[in-house]
Amino acid sequence: MLVEKFLNDAEATLALGQQLGQHLLASNKSLVIYLEGQLGAGKTTFTGGVLKGLGHSGAVKSPTYTLVEPYEDLALPAYHFDLYRLGDPEELEYIGIRDYFDHHALCLVEWPNRGAGFLPESDIVVQLTTMAMPDAPELIGRKICLKANTQQGEAIILALG
Ligand code: ADP
Ligand code: MG
Repeated sequence: MLVEKFLNDAEATLALGQQLGQHLLASNKSLVIYLEGQLGAGKTTFTGGVLKGLGHSGAVKSPTYTLVEPYEDLALPAYHFDLYRLGDPEELEYIGIRDYFDHHALCLVEWPNRGAGFLPESDIVVQLTTMAMPDAPELIGRKICLKANTQQGEAIILALG
């Protein structure tokens, strides 16, 4: 299943992320979300919205150098991964990657391709692309594609409308 939307500005990216986060909070189930798209596509912005939907109120930065940022004091705990600087997927073994995915938690992964072979399958893949908006070509916004790979992911995406 696939949902496609146009996001005119960063606020729209945040708002959709927040909506998704609220559904995740209501479902209260572990879930794995992959975030794909070039540098600057809006992956971290979207993640910030999701975390806000889970009840997080502070800033969200991509953990580019630390690989993972925990948000454990939420009703549904979350781990935000950014694997951009990962040299070798095997390094994920050293940070104990399996433990994170064994927790009752939401795992959000930027640059999942860099961890291929060492990550669990995703429930949802989010793809962000920079482009002119069809209904306002002067606006350079984002196209977002949400793809569900499991029934649980599908339920969440369906709720987005
Ligand atoms: P990434 O994590 O993919 O590298 P970021 O989330 O850091 O990207 O976002 C890069 C920039 O894109 C930020 O300045 C953000 O405000 C902007 N941005 C996010 N969504 C949109 C959008 N829908 N339209 C225009 N700019 C956006
Ligand atoms: Mg990022």
